[in-house]
Amino acid sequence: MVFLSLYALQHRGQEAAGIVAIEEGGKQAHIHKGAGLVSDALDEEAVSALTGTTALGHIRYSTVGGAELVNAQPLLVRYAEGGLSVVHNGNLTNGRELRANLVSDGALFQSGIDTEVIVHLIARSRREDIDGQVADALSQLEGSFSVLITVGPTLYAARDRHGFRPLVMGVKDGAYVFASETCALDIIGARYVRDLEPGEVLRVRNGELTRLPSVGTFSQAAPCIFELVYFARPDSRLWGHSVDRSRRACGRQLAIEQPAEADCVISVPDSANSAALGFAEQSGIPFELGLIRNHYVGRTFIEPSQSGRDFKVRLKYSPVREVLAGKRVVVVDDSLVRGTTSRGLVNLLREAGATEVHFRLASPPVKHPCYFGIDMPTREELVASRSTTEEIREQLGVDSLGYLSMEGMTRAVDPDGTFCSACFSGNYPAPLVDLEMGHMAAGCGA
Ligand code: AMP
Repeated sequence: MVFLSLYALQHRGQEAAGIVAIEEGGKQAHIHKGAGLVSDALDEEAVSALTGTTALGHIRYSTVGGAELVNAQPLLVRYAEGGLSVVHNGNLTNGRELRANLVSDGALFQSGIDTEVIVHLIARSRREDIDGQVADALSQLEGSFSVLITVGPTLYAARDRHGFRPLVMGVKDGAYVFASETCALDIIGARYVRDLEPGEVLRVRNGELTRLPSVGTFSQAAPCIFELVYFARPDSRLWGHSVDRSRRACGRQLAIEQPAEADCVISVPDSANSAALGFAEQSGIPFELGLIRNHYVGRTFIEPSQSGRDFKVRLKYSPVREVLAGKRVVVVDDSLVRGTTSRGLVNLLREAGATEVHFRLASPPVKHPCYFGIDMPTREELVASRSTTEEIREQLGVDSLGYLSMEGMTRAVDPDGTFCSACFSGNYPAPLVDLEMGHMAAGCGA
C-alpha cells in the first residue's frame, strides 16, 4: 500500500524513493531506497522483501542536500527501542544551526539533509519516555515539517506549528494511514478522516490512536499557498480546499483581471490545466489542447541541475499545429519562476504558427525565495524580483503578459488570509534562523 501511495505522490518528487517496513513488535526493520522514479527505485522484488505491519515511504524532492542516495529517505537507524525511522516533508530553517550544535557535541552525521537532525535530537533527548523524546526533538525545530517517525513499533505523525506542509490522516481496514495528499489515500481505497492541525502530534501504538500535546508555541497557521497554485495534484483536497476548484477560481479571477482578445485558451500542462479551464469558462474563449506534455520526461524544474533546460522544454512539450496555426492564443501557466520554461514555450508556439501569444499567470509574481519546502531558486534567479512585468514581457517575446493580483488570488482561494504567501509577498511567517546566523547564503532558496 505504501508503494502504491508513493506512486500517487510521484509529482511531489522524482529524485529518489524509499520504504521502511517494521515487523510486528518493532524489533526488526527493513529498508529499500533507490534513485529516480518510484517504479525505478522500488522493484517488485525489493518491495516484497519489505515485510512488516507498519511502513513508511518517501519520495524525494530536494531543498536541502544533494541528489546522492545517502540523502534519500526514510532515514533508519538502530535505537534502544528497535528501529528509529523518519520521513520528512519540509525544510528546517534552523537545520544548519542545530546540526552545528550537534556536531560540536560529537554527533556523527551520515547525510547532508536537515531531517537527520531529528534523529539525533530524539536519540540525545534526556526525557525518559519515547513520547517525551519525540516531543523534545520536534519542539526544537523551526521552519516546516510534516513528519512521520517510527520508534520500535510506535508511529508518530506531526506537523509544524505553522502547518506549512500538508499532512492528512485516513483509515483503511481499521488501520491508520498518513500522507501528504488525499490522492495517496484514494489510490489504496483509504477513507480520508481529516487533516492534521498545525502543531498536532499523533501517536499510533498497538493500533490505537492518541493525540499528544502539540509541539511548539501556538502561532498563526500558515499553510503554503503554492501547494494550491502548483504543487499538489488537482484531485487532492488540501486543508478543506479542492485543488482543482482553487485553481479554477484563480483562472476565472485572472480572466477578469487580465482579459485578452484571442481565439483560444491553452494551458501549460499539467499544472495549469485547471486554471486555464477557469480562464476559458470566465472569458468564453474556447479551451484547446495546444501543448502536449510528454509524461515520460520528469518535471524540468524539479531536477537539481539546470543544465540544458531549454532543450528539456522541447523534450517535454510539443505544440499542436492544427490548434495554433493562424490563431491568437492565450497561454495560461500557474506560475513564472525563472522564466526559462516560458521563453522556450513561446518559441514553440510561434514556430507552430500562433499569430499572437498572450501569456497569463494564475498567480502573482514570484519575487521571494521559499525557505519552507518549495524548491525555489535564489532571489537573483527569480525573474520577477529583478525585472518589471513589461521587461519580462519583452524577454519572453509575448504580445501581452498578465499576472493574477495578490488580492485576486486571496479572494479566489484564501478569503480568510491564513496562507503563507511569502514567495509572492516576502512576509515570512517563521524565523529564518540559518539565514540570520549566516549559515546559508542570503537569498538562497534552501
Ligand atoms: P520557469 O521557467 O522557471 O518560470 O518555470 C515555470 C514553470 O515551472 C511553471 O510551468 C510551473 O508550473 C513550474 N514550477 C513552478 N514552481 C516550481 C517548483 N518549485 N518546482 C517545480 N516546478 C515549478
